Amino acid sequence: MINHEVIQVIQAAPPTLIRIVRINPRLVRPVIYIYNFVKGNSIERLVVAMKIVSVDTYLVRPRWGFVELQTDDGLSGWGEAVLEGRASTVRACVEEMRGYLVGADPMRIEDIWTTLYRAGFYRGGGVMMSAISGIDQALWDIKGKFFSAPVYQLIGGACRDTVRIYSWIGGDRPSDVGAAAKEKMAEGFSAVKMNGTEELQYIDSHEKIDAVLERVAAIRESCGKYFGIAIDFHGRVHRPMAKVLAKKLEEFDPMFIEEPVLCENMECFPEIASCCNIPIATGERLFSRWDFKRLFQVGGVDIIQPDLSHAGGITEVKKIAAMAEAYDIALAPHCPLGPIALAACLNVDASSYNAVIQEQSIGIHYNVGKSVLDYVQNRDDFAFVDGYVKLPKRPGLGVEVNKELVLEENEKPHEWKNPVWRHTDGSIAEW
Ligand SMILES: [Mg+2]
Repeated sequence: MINHEVIQVIQAAPPTLIRIVRINPRLVRPVIYIYNFVKGNSIERLVVAMKIVSVDTYLVRPRWGFVELQTDDGLSGWGEAVLEGRASTVRACVEEMRGYLVGADPMRIEDIWTTLYRAGFYRGGGVMMSAISGIDQALWDIKGKFFSAPVYQLIGGACRDTVRIYSWIGGDRPSDVGAAAKEKMAEGFSAVKMNGTEELQYIDSHEKIDAVLERVAAIRESCGKYFGIAIDFHGRVHRPMAKVLAKKLEEFDPMFIEEPVLCENMECFPEIASCCNIPIATGERLFSRWDFKRLFQVGGVDIIQPDLSHAGGITEVKKIAAMAEAYDIALAPHCPLGPIALAACLNVDASSYNAVIQEQSIGIHYNVGKSVLDYVQNRDDFAFVDGYVKLPKRPGLGVEVNKELVLEENEKPHEWKNPVWRHTDGSIAEW
């Protein structure tokens, strides 16, 4: 049902021109027409653009950064703009971008994204792309709320009914992973991820390799032959030992190995892939479709893990996912972050054919003081049943943010940093 309201008679004599506002009760925003009654046609259609009126940033424990955009319609969109360990820098970057946002029409997401990416001359990298990512998520949240639809409905619609998820076990220095994996299996998960090693030198002792194998063997023993085991090398392993470790892990049939070497050394992936029959995952430290383009060209990778809060948000990761599909590469978005980033991931997973499994950070070792669901009012929507989560239900990203808690946390902004590790000779080790 569309209501009409004459707001101005422009010209009373024929051709009679009358300005009419049509108010669609399903939409917040009025559409104004100038109507020619002689010809019976509208001769001008004017959609009054919604405007962004405020951009607010918040730092919240354990180590996250949220951004909230508000519109002159009273809509509020939330995003997660953070680079773990550089949260204040990303916050400053979002605030520096405020001038491009206030007064802009939030429905023009592609245009805003392109402005933030291209119009600043310099582009890319973790800080700027994380800022854009959080803003992009917030824009999609607004668009979803405007159309009263979950975001995945606006980016192609669902191509699955649920999303498979996995859980972290073992912490930074993995131990007792057999028992931890069994606990997760009892909770219904069909897969877990763990860090493979602690510090590992370019050339290191096989004692450390044996320790990894023992841990993976413990999970196999406690959870059976077909339980999913993902092993994150975390960029801690250099090429010489990566080949050794990957080859030896083969006997345990892992679901995948992750970041066997850093993406800075992406040309090594085909060589590592040729050493083992294990799917290789990577991509949490790549920031755009151009970064991923190089990865796809180099080859050797089976699963990409773009981070919705680092790789340009929903707009960019949808494109990266489509590029991956054309290479027959799977998608498993990286998400050791909070509820808004997770909801953004789930909307992309829902609508991306090659999405296979989703990371989430409930119970992860990083989450000290606060956790994912603390910031969520609609916790039931994030229930994990038999290792799967249902698609987001609510308009927008699907998170009702507990703003009171966000404001309270922001009073004393966290200063989370990852530990600095050193090898026994005193040199810096990758964490
Ligand atoms: Mg990782």
